[in-house]
Parts: sequence; C-alpha cells; structure tokens
Amino acid sequence: MKFLADRMLGKLAKELRILGYDTVYYKGENAYPLIKLAREEGRVILTRNTKIIPKRPEDRILRIEADRSPLQLRELIQKKVIALNEENLFSRCLLCNAPLDGISSEEAEGKVPDFTFYQQKEFSRCPQCQRIYWQGSHQDHMRKKVKELFNVSIQNAK
Ligand SMILES: [Zn+2]
Repeated sequence: MKFLADRMLGKLAKELRILGYDTVYYKGENAYPLIKLAREEGRVILTRNTKIIPKRPEDRILRIEADRSPLQLRELIQKKVIALNEENLFSRCLLCNAPLDGISSEEAEGKVPDFTFYQQKEFSRCPQCQRIYWQGSHQDHMRKKVKELFNVSIQNAK
C-alpha cells in the first residue's frame, strides 16, 4: 500500500518511511491537487481534514482521528492498515521517500564520520539527496521502539 500524507501529517509520513512504506508528503493546502496526485499514483490519502471526501470510486481516503504522531501510527496499526515487515525497516530515505541503494564501504569513505566508517560494514545511499545511511545504535534503538509499538498496539486492539 502506498500513501499520500497531507500537510498536517508530516511526522506520520516520516514514520511510515522508517517502516518502509512508500509515502509522499503533500505540503499544499488545496484538496484537489492532493486527490489528483493520489489518483495518478494509486495512493491512499491520509488526512485529518474532514472536508476531503472521495469523489470517485477509486479515491481512497483514510481519516486519521488521533492528533499526535505516535498515536496516529498506532491507529494505522490497530486498523490493520500497516504491518511490521522488518526487512523493510530503514529501506527508504526519510527525507525524499526514495528507496535506498546499498553501497560499498569504499563509496562511503570520507562521506561519513571516521568513527562510523570503521564501526560499520553496511551503508546505503539515497539516490536523490545522496544522504548516506548506516545501521548504527540509533537504528537499533528505533527498531526496538517500533517493535514495541506494534506489540502494544496489537494487544490493545484485541
Ligand atoms: Zn534522500
């Protein structure tokens, strides 16, 4: 499932990218370009705006009720819109949404802090903004938090 998050849901969009979901963040204010883009790219619109309503049978709009981002992600988990697929974690650029390319450590040399370069073996790069990602303690920590969130949310939904 691919998403299109509206301007009120920037944090949720980033969190969905962390999980590996293809999520475009739309910063504009007008509803029509939002709906048009979703149609063109086959995306589900995520919005808190009650005025955005489906106009054609193919329009898929998911209204987010929670007003804060950890709760919004939890809402999607509980509604079974998203699932945890560990292989997909950290597979996209958090800023551009582009799928990351694996790169050799030689390619990362000089572009990441020396400490990181010597500590890490696997690096990946965003083909759009060229930002380099690696599996560090930060990712391990987030991975743990994401798992906890899924576990708690699924238990509470029963
Ligand atoms: Zn990027």
